[in-house]
Amino acid sequence: MKVNKLKKCEYCAKEISYHEMYCCDDCQKGANEFYDMRDKVSVLIGIINGICVMSIGIGFFVFSFFKEAGAYMVSIPMIILGLIFMLFPIPADVMIQKYKIQKSVKITRIIALSLIILGIIATIFAIFTI
Ligand SMILES: [Zn+2]
Repeated sequence: MKVNKLKKCEYCAKEISYHEMYCCDDCQKGANEFYDMRDKVSVLIGIINGICVMSIGIGFFVFSFFKEAGAYMVSIPMIILGLIFMLFPIPADVMIQKYKIQKSVKITRIIALSLIILGIIATIFAIFTI
């Protein structure tokens, strides 16, 4: 059996012994809540995510012909995506493997917040300059 000495808590990434998965009950609880939330919303979020990303992609194309419509097709889905990932921070699996749940959720929220801010700036730009 392979013994991994540097095993980390699946939730907070604190070092633990190889036969454990979590460092404490709170972390186990946090992880369970995270996976429950992810199971419930992942399909819906995948769909919304797909629509928003598609709209952003088409928006950039539309922008070269119809500036106003294109700008809103990019900025509004950015705000929607940001709000959704603020409420339901679901990081990619590779991110969870690397940073564990707690840190991945934080990083996802920071990205979500940046998206909201960028989306608002793009919307203001669209309203006042186009
Ligand atoms: Zn922990």
